[in-house]
Amino acid sequence: MTTTVTRIRAAWVVGYQHGDHCLYPEGEVVYQGDKILFVGHDYSGAVDEEINVGNALVGPGFIDLDALGDLDTTVLAFDNQPGWRKGRVVAHDWQRRDLYSRSQLDFAKRYAYSQLLRNGITSFAPITSILYREWAEEFDEYLYAADVAESLGARAWLGPAFMAGYYVTDEQGQVSRREDRQRALQGLEDAERFVNRIRQRGVPTLSAMLAPDRIEGGDLAWLNDLAQLVKTLACPTRLHCCQSELEINEIARRFNGKSSLALLEESGLLNQHMLLPHGQYLGGAQPDAGRVGEDIARLARSGATVVSCPLVSGRHAKYMEYYPRFKQSAINMALGTDTFPPDMFSNMHMGVVLSRVVSGDISAANSADYYRMATLGGAKALGRDDLGRLAAGCQADMVVIDLNQPALGQIFDPIAALVLNGNGRDVKGTLVAGRKVFWEGEMVQAGFSLDALHAESQSVFQHIISTYPERTVGHPSVAEIVAPTFPLHQKGARHGKTLSAE
Ligand SMILES: [Zn+2]
Repeated sequence: MTTTVTRIRAAWVVGYQHGDHCLYPEGEVVYQGDKILFVGHDYSGAVDEEINVGNALVGPGFIDLDALGDLDTTVLAFDNQPGWRKGRVVAHDWQRRDLYSRSQLDFAKRYAYSQLLRNGITSFAPITSILYREWAEEFDEYLYAADVAESLGARAWLGPAFMAGYYVTDEQGQVSRREDRQRALQGLEDAERFVNRIRQRGVPTLSAMLAPDRIEGGDLAWLNDLAQLVKTLACPTRLHCCQSELEINEIARRFNGKSSLALLEESGLLNQHMLLPHGQYLGGAQPDAGRVGEDIARLARSGATVVSCPLVSGRHAKYMEYYPRFKQSAINMALGTDTFPPDMFSNMHMGVVLSRVVSGDISAANSADYYRMATLGGAKALGRDDLGRLAAGCQADMVVIDLNQPALGQIFDPIAALVLNGNGRDVKGTLVAGRKVFWEGEMVQAGFSLDALHAESQSVFQHIISTYPERTVGHPSVAEIVAPTFPLHQKGARHGKTLSAE
């Protein structure tokens, strides 16, 4: 471990005092190895290395608990709905198979994890789509994910996604559930084996998590087994629930009218280890004030974390309408990016806006609320009070944000300015455990630039789009699934003739 003491000076430093963030104009952060020694003004000890980042803000790195971990295809459905007709629920007659090669999956992880660091996200729990898979994710694949995260210098919570079953759709939009008991058990076993493997590995920046796929894929036996596993391993566990209409309707139909949270509570899956995206359908399939209130009380007494992903939620015309009540009930809330761009600034901004819109109340949320969610809320969810804040003794996980960008407008308060006008592109440096991991365009630890990966990403993405007809109900062409925004006039086509995208 290095003994070098480094001081970063910046126009603004986000410190931490009395249980909350605070701001130091012309501030400094001093750190040694992976630990912060001092945050504030006029450090009096000896310093070996000085970094002056000038007109920039140095704050805690962001924590992303539903972090975009592959090439995002949710974006394809943005203008192409309903989702079930556009490949967001797989076709009943599709024989599941892996549509990505292993090397493409590996590439997607390198690309996505680099993007997260580039956006100032120092701690992440990645999520990928398993719509393109023979089943869910694999043990070996996540050993590679751990290698990638380590080589980039990221702080990651990793675990292969596993499931008990999934939904298919027919041409009328009727969904039905498919299950595979053997694979369900194998998934639980692999997940446990993976957690133990990561723990044995003993890399301080790598942690394990359990990543069961969404609640509606599960059955009672699987949920109970999962609850046991969470108890045994005591690690962060992310389970999508209160996310979609399909989910709440199916949970009600299969489990006696219960809400998703009631089912989780009864299965022993509502506790402080749980990270729950997206918290937007409370009270079950037939919500009323009483049932919603019961769900809020369940969350509050459980210590579980609601993970909000404002950008993806807003794009789907939905948001956690009970945000103000979550806040009043002191329910822990954190943020996830989940979709492209993996940008915490847009997510904080969208979160404030949506919270106000769904509650009809301008005082429902402010910049500080969402900045806390992106930092302190995530740290609490992970059981890490040494993350998400800059204070002596904490991990030196930091983001350096350039305040010289004309696009930022005028700085009257740096946090409000960043929430309103900031963008992941304004991040000029990211440090994890005192090491530069992203600095002025370079992935410093891994030794490559994101630009180089980016060129390849387009062809991998083109490949996955080309597989859409196979998985999509009715098997329409790509052009019917992902329609061009406006008519395309291809070069060389006769004047006035419209060609469809292919
Ligand atoms: Zn999600």
